[in-house]
Amino acid sequence: MFDVVIAGGGPAGSAAAIALAGAGLKALIVDKALFPRNKACGEYVSAGAVEQLRTLGLESVLAPAAVPLVGIRLNGNGVRVELRFSKAGWALPRLQLDDELLRCAISRGATFLQARVEDVREEAPGSLLTVREPSGETRVLQARFVIGADGAQSVVARKCGLSVAPRGEQRFALGGHYGGLRDLDRFVEMFVEGSSYFAVNPFDAAHANIMVIVREKDLSARKNDVDQFIRERARALSGNAARFAGARLEGKRIAVGPLAHSTRGVTAGNVLLAGDAAGFIDPFTGQGVYLALRGGIAAARAVAAAVATPSSAPAAIENYASELSSEMRRRGKLARIVRTFTGSAALSKRVARNVERNPERVQILIDAIAGCGPVAPALAFGNLVRLVA
Ligand SMILES: Cc1cc2nc3c(=O)[nH]c(=O)nc-3n(C[C@H](O)[C@H](O)[C@H](O)COP(=O)(O)OP(=O)(O)OC[C@H]3O[C@@H](n4cnc5c(N)ncnc54)[C@H](O)[C@@H]3O)c2cc1C
Repeated sequence: MFDVVIAGGGPAGSAAAIALAGAGLKALIVDKALFPRNKACGEYVSAGAVEQLRTLGLESVLAPAAVPLVGIRLNGNGVRVELRFSKAGWALPRLQLDDELLRCAISRGATFLQARVEDVREEAPGSLLTVREPSGETRVLQARFVIGADGAQSVVARKCGLSVAPRGEQRFALGGHYGGLRDLDRFVEMFVEGSSYFAVNPFDAAHANIMVIVREKDLSARKNDVDQFIRERARALSGNAARFAGARLEGKRIAVGPLAHSTRGVTAGNVLLAGDAAGFIDPFTGQGVYLALRGGIAAARAVAAAVATPSSAPAAIENYASELSSEMRRRGKLARIVRTFTGSAALSKRVARNVERNPERVQILIDAIAGCGPVAPALAFGNLVRLVA
């Protein structure tokens, strides 16, 4: 029997394995993919996520490959506004980030198994996981604790009865790495039009990750002309035709969706969900990697406490559940607030005015979202009213 099996070796799973190793526990990571593997993502790593990487001892390892970002520029609704980060975030390809995290987990004692988790069921004193290896062979693994870090289509969440069917209109993401751009600087740029948007995350002056988020009903229209769409909308929304005129996809086009996954809880018995498996937040605010790293580390701490003192296991898991649920609720709220502000021309203009007149009001929100400032003041009703006053 394994002490801990982690389903998924993305940021949440690898961070959990590294933190478990720090507590003297060796985990088995089961991932259906062989690494390095790509992941649909804007590839913006917030300052808070960089801080989590520091906790894991990886900031200095990854920094040479990362491009420091100084802020975010919002284009749309007749507004062009620049918001500065208090602490730098990074542009960093997921191919490198995730591979380095997994390598670190393995170097500290975790074992990696390439296999797809197909089933999880409780069997005292832990759980049984059915996994299928690339050869087609299935194996049953016994684990005292399971960390479900298998992303937004989490099999672990579904099999444990924690997934909730998504409601409302679904959205999809299309994009990839682009070249042929001009004059990009150290700002992430968002181009917003109603509920659709695209994000440009610069690697240098001419290259960027570009992700377009569209509604399901616009998907088929956009699928074949993403590059044209980016060129046209960037020109229309920023008034600058030249910078995006030569945009061309380099490498593979990424298409994923629907972008939704909710859960009714983040633990079931000895199973703990972390990262996107615990719930997916609109990627507009770029909180996903931060939450995945933080959640993975927190899950590992709860499991380590439970293994060290079995009588305290229920309390450690309960504590994890309540802290993660509350963190996700608050970060979900931050994302909805930003989408409300950026989705309305009137509100966007008011926030833009405040950025010029009272930058400190907006900074509270920016820092909270980036994971380097407290969330409570950013969500306080009075502050939100003042932002649009
Ligand atoms: C379009 C888009 C843009 C985004 N942009 C940003 C951004 O710029 N910044 C940011 O911070 N966040 C962004 N996010 C969110 C971010 O990508 C996620 O929050 C983050 O990857 C979550 O990490 P994770 O470890 O939970 O899951 P993942 O990174 O998805 O890793 C899950 C792992 O589980 C494995 N797996 C899945 N199913 C199984 C199975 N059945 N058996 C075994 N293994 C399995 C997968 O192969 C994968 O390796 C974006 C998301 C999307 C969709």
